[in-house]
Amino acid sequence: MSRSNAPHGDPDAVQPAHPDLSPEEWTPRTLAAQALGRIEPVTRAVVPPLHLSTTYLRDPDNAYRSGFSYARPDNATAREAEDVIAALERAEAGSLLFSSGMAAAAAVFCALERGDHVVAPEVMYWGLRRWLRQEAPRLDLTVDFVAMEDPDAVRAAIRPGKTRLVWIETPGNPLCTVSDIAAIAEIAREAGARVAVDSTAVSPILTRPLALGADIVMHSATKILNGHSDVVAGVLAGARRDTFWERLVAIRAGWGAILGPFEAYLLMRGLRTLPLRVAAQNEGALRLATRLSAHPLVSAVLYPGLPGHPGHAVAARQMEGGFGFMLSIRVAGGEAAAIDTAARVALWKRATSLGGVESLIEHRASVEGPGTPCPPDLLRLSTGIEDPDDLFRDLDAALRAAHGKIG
Ligand SMILES: *Cc1c(COP(=O)(O)O)cnc(C)c1O
Repeated sequence: MSRSNAPHGDPDAVQPAHPDLSPEEWTPRTLAAQALGRIEPVTRAVVPPLHLSTTYLRDPDNAYRSGFSYARPDNATAREAEDVIAALERAEAGSLLFSSGMAAAAAVFCALERGDHVVAPEVMYWGLRRWLRQEAPRLDLTVDFVAMEDPDAVRAAIRPGKTRLVWIETPGNPLCTVSDIAAIAEIAREAGARVAVDSTAVSPILTRPLALGADIVMHSATKILNGHSDVVAGVLAGARRDTFWERLVAIRAGWGAILGPFEAYLLMRGLRTLPLRVAAQNEGALRLATRLSAHPLVSAVLYPGLPGHPGHAVAARQMEGGFGFMLSIRVAGGEAAAIDTAARVALWKRATSLGGVESLIEHRASVEGPGTPCPPDLLRLSTGIEDPDDLFRDLDAALRAAHGKIG
């Protein structure tokens, strides 16, 4: 169907009243809600279609002018979500969807050269820390784990001429340590090292690492980007299309690590409400953190939004519009009381993962095992979009029941 078949001519022939309001000038909320405002040209659908074809017709002269040849290197449904994420991150190189957050992160380490040195945080996603411990020696990479929240510790760990990557995760999962992306990026730049930031806990709505000097942003899109706990996905966004970025493109294509079109379609649906979910989850987490700080059975609340948090000043500068959905609490009665509290919640879901619309609670030390910096009395909370006062009442009742005396 061509547009000339439309009964009233080409609707695009009518000029918009504000031709200057192009997607580059939209706020993240508008950009996400409209998924860049794209209209599918054949049917005029306002939702991009699901492209399932694994192969594409070549042009008669053997070229592939559509840009698509086969579904392993690229997919049109994945591209829709990639373009929205790239716009939100203001990533000039664009973004690449992977089959999981771990696949996206692993691609970055595998794009390094043998013999390279990496500086990584002590407090980071445990699955990636374990993968690095197991796989880095096989890749001939040396990894030093440092207190990333202390720029001096990063500077001290840099090996001139050897360090090629500084990996940041902020706030760090699950202790909510805050690392200063701009300060670390400067240290890394002087040393000729790249900076990659696992930004899963904040999303581009709260922090844009590339604007702070990072080279690569990584997300587990399984978490708040999708937001509905029904897709496993990862993404990398790049500051520039350099040889390192091209290597990431080649790794994804060669390993077949691209996200499938169904998942990309669901992720695109989730992304449309990202700014609203982030705002609601920020607000809920701050309210919970504040109320839990005064709770007699909570010995500590780890949340960068609290003025007493050691990373609060950096977080207030680096994070825009809130401090995120993730917080952790330390339960006054120790490990047994923490596990028992998680056993007694009704509204919170006792499950791993983060960033969904439903609130999750988890005893992390038993997940992370030996070598974790996570204390045994810690529960990690992922705040959803429920009423935070309902969430507080549920947790309060569970804490008291686990304590066994007060109520
Ligand atoms: C979940 C998570 C990952 C891993 O992502 P998957 O999609 O589960 O592979 C990486 N980093 C952080 C901070 C995470 O929370």
